Amino acid sequence: MSIQDIKNSIRDVPDFPKKGILFKDITTALKKPIILREIINSLAEKLKDKKIDYIVGIESRGFIFGSPLAYLLNCGFVPIRKSGKLPSQVITQEYGLEYGTDIIEIHQDAFEKDANVLIIDDLLATGGTAVASAELVKKAGANLLGFAFVIELTDLNGREKLEQFGDTFSLIKY
Ligand code: AMP
Repeated sequence: MSIQDIKNSIRDVPDFPKKGILFKDITTALKKPIILREIINSLAEKLKDKKIDYIVGIESRGFIFGSPLAYLLNCGFVPIRKSGKLPSQVITQEYGLEYGTDIIEIHQDAFEKDANVLIIDDLLATGGTAVASAELVKKAGANLLGFAFVIELTDLNGREKLEQFGDTFSLIKY
């Protein structure tokens, strides 16, 4: 089992959700037990020496990888959700998309002050979503250690935008 095996199991879908985007479809990887285990175990191995109190998963594919990772690393899981989904008091962050804006939220009381947090999502593209998530984590009073992604699209230079917030790790690069 290698990174190449994981890569081979991710499906490219051209022109989704719109023309010109090559969508990295992880559903073909998730349905294979060996691949799913390899992804989670590889992320856990890479992150095991960091003193993480909470893994923060970005809705929705960040949840898929974030919660088993939190389980393995023996830390808590905190969701960042799209606007209007979290039931208690929230902190809100608006961020720019290619067309228009989007809003994400976190619970105001998600962390104790200075808790050590790592943000996870399936894929790093331009970095806009991860930057907005980092702003939320900071506003909520936590100490952001960095980010982990299953996939990084290196041509889009998202990593540069994240440097100011902490380390970035990605398992697979295209
Ligand atoms: P960005 O904010 O540009 O870094 O985009 C990151 C978010 O959009 C992640 O939550 C990804 O799931 C999704 N995303 C962006 N580009 C792609 C792509 N080519 N294939 C799959 N998901 C993508």
